[in-house]
Amino acid sequence: MEWLRRFMYGRYGGDNLSKALLVLSFILLMITNLLPRALIGLELIAYIPTLVCVYRIFSRNIYKRQQENYKYLRIRNSAIVWFRRKMNITKDLKTHKYFTCPNCRQKLRVPRKQGKISVTCPKCKNSFKGKS
Ligand SMILES: [Zn+2]
Repeated sequence: MEWLRRFMYGRYGGDNLSKALLVLSFILLMITNLLPRALIGLELIAYIPTLVCVYRIFSRNIYKRQQENYKYLRIRNSAIVWFRRKMNITKDLKTHKYFTCPNCRQKLRVPRKQGKISVTCPKCKNSFKGKS
């Protein structure tokens, strides 16, 4: 394994983005497998993320690869936050109702089973009626 260590010296190696690219390739392969035979050329597209992944692993431009990985992690984290927020709202729907202020589009959360209520937006003080 000494030759591998020497070969990899000064090269970037694997990271989260490379892993994600492999997963993406795998998913694309699964999808293209379901396509009709006539579209078989599309399979090649599925290998593009793998090629990018291999290129990144052996790249000597470590700084640039790190920047790409940071960018990817930022996007991934905001996607996770967005998804969690959506999940929380879904869980919350049994006990709370969400209104959107007709004036400023602010999202408002109100406990359920209170009948007809008057909601006042904390942001713009606009008042509107709703059914909880
Ligand atoms: Zn408002």
